[in-house]
Amino acid sequence: MPTKFYKLQCVSCKTDFDESQTVTTCLNCGDSLDVIYDYNRIKTRLNNFSLRKAPLSAMKYADFYPIMDFEKIVTLKEGGTPLYTTSNLAKKYKLKDVYVKNEGANPTGVFKDRGTLVEITKALEMNAKAICLASSGNMAASAAAYASLARIPCYVLVPEGTPIGKLSQSLTYGARVLQIRDTYSVCAKLAEEMAKKHKFYLAGDYVFRREGQKSQAYEIIEQLYWKPPDYLICPIGCGTNLSAIWKGFKEYFELGFIDKLPKLIGVQTEGCATIVEAFSKKQPIKRWDKVNTICSAIAVNFPLDGNLVLNAIKESKGMAISVSDLEALEAEQQLGKEESIFVEPSGALPLAALNKLVKDKKIDNNSSVVLVMTGVGLKDPISALKNLPDPAVLDPEIEEIDRYIDLKLYNIRSALMNNKEDILWKKVPSDSKELQKIIKKEFNIDLQNIYLQKVYDNIKEFSEKNTQMRKADLQYIVENALKEHAFAEEVLKVLDFHLNVQMHDKPSASVKLRFKEEIFESEANGVGPVDAIINAIKNGIKGKDSLNFSLVDYNVEIDTPGTDAVVEVRIKMRDKFGNEVTGSGTSPDVIVASINAFTRGYNVLNARK
Ligand SMILES: *Cc1c(COP(=O)(O)O)cnc(C)c1O
Ligand SMILES: [Zn+2]
Repeated sequence: MPTKFYKLQCVSCKTDFDESQTVTTCLNCGDSLDVIYDYNRIKTRLNNFSLRKAPLSAMKYADFYPIMDFEKIVTLKEGGTPLYTTSNLAKKYKLKDVYVKNEGANPTGVFKDRGTLVEITKALEMNAKAICLASSGNMAASAAAYASLARIPCYVLVPEGTPIGKLSQSLTYGARVLQIRDTYSVCAKLAEEMAKKHKFYLAGDYVFRREGQKSQAYEIIEQLYWKPPDYLICPIGCGTNLSAIWKGFKEYFELGFIDKLPKLIGVQTEGCATIVEAFSKKQPIKRWDKVNTICSAIAVNFPLDGNLVLNAIKESKGMAISVSDLEALEAEQQLGKEESIFVEPSGALPLAALNKLVKDKKIDNNSSVVLVMTGVGLKDPISALKNLPDPAVLDPEIEEIDRYIDLKLYNIRSALMNNKEDILWKKVPSDSKELQKIIKKEFNIDLQNIYLQKVYDNIKEFSEKNTQMRKADLQYIVENALKEHAFAEEVLKVLDFHLNVQMHDKPSASVKLRFKEEIFESEANGVGPVDAIINAIKNGIKGKDSLNFSLVDYNVEIDTPGTDAVVEVRIKMRDKFGNEVTGSGTSPDVIVASINAFTRGYNVLNARK
């Protein structure tokens, strides 16, 4: 084994430590540690030829990591990620070049693998019996993967509600996942206690991880033929990654491999802008009580490497800026659509920032920019869907597809992107003509008369319970009316219903029906209120109905937040010939939505007969 060629040092009080004393934070003041190398030693070990010519990979830079025993290295062939020259962005923004470093191409889909390589190797060197860590999800998955490979048990503490992609990954790699009913910061505190108590190796945004993540800088330099960009834009969570990238650039600068350094631009979201606040107000970083952002990977209320990254940004003459969640989601879509790169919302922050910087003329024309896209989109597909139209579900007929295209159903969904919550009115429009105008303005479609009346009726029905109309509500109503089969004759209609629900009794329902011109009432019980109503309808038409149908599936979806939420009910039914249709109904009342779904499904099935 080589003699030690590095030591650990506190970034604030400059106290030196040996790794046997601490591998996390300064024992004196609690701030971050840094690895201080004897660069003369590193230089004598470096193989300059392979450094310049060998294919890219994080392992290629092993001499720049504080690893003592190369036999212990745990690698999944991380790094070597592509640097794309974007075809559209540079032209659009009148910049010289805009590059995307696609860190989603790492083994677990995130740059963190570069850090985990070093961290888990160090854990092995130090004979760890188990690893534990807190994570907002990505580090959990990354550490889990490497710990499994090293055959060390791995405990991860994640906040409840961690994106499903990250959770399923961690579990698949065999981590012992504990979801904590609190924030990331609370998880971090618990992980620390857990490590101390059980003598586990505490992984996290600490000194060894940072060393591994430097390789992003080395790779970018090499991919740009040893000419660093003018700007490098990167999201900030704990600040570990951007400070690692800065360290990588500085090392190459000091070794004389490059002759300039990029300006760093750190990006956070408005709901979690600790560093941006400190930067713009020129004050120390403050702990936020609460953070609120869809970018879960950066949702940190007190960044562990805050000072380090703030100093790096200042030293580079860069800046820290924040963008909104919506801007992040829009940038995520922009990347997908314009450059065919799918990132998670946090990974889109650099582009959101670039959009803003260009608009505010805060970035010099004709400069070159590298955007670090930190993580792949499959990690958190649910949040991407928040701002995307749900794909339509159609019955398997070409006429259905034609109708979808003709009616421009896609337009309605796309029009909803930004202002779902806008209140369109507090009083129902006076007539259907006025409604038609509103629909034209909001969704850019000319609603044909056959649908207009239906929509107007549904709105009046809706407004009996809910007085104000949000744009999202109107969208559901219009869309459902369009999706409905205009050709289906309304043979079955529920005119009224009455429910009797008691705590300890089966609910009972009575309904007033119009079925094939005949009006009558019927009753039934059920295990729940919806079941009772449906049974009452079925009872009523029993003997009169010739479809001989059965219910195949019942599905409720809550589309808006709150107890006054609008629910969408879908009921799938099948007739004796095997025809299947799905009726859907939308209302703030789940019973009404279910009745609508049932009767629509029935009427379409009847028309198909
Ligand atoms: C961890 C993470 C970040 C934030 O990196 P820090 O080192 O905590 O600043 C950004 N994006 C993604 C996808 C991440 O997983
Ligand atoms: Zn210190």
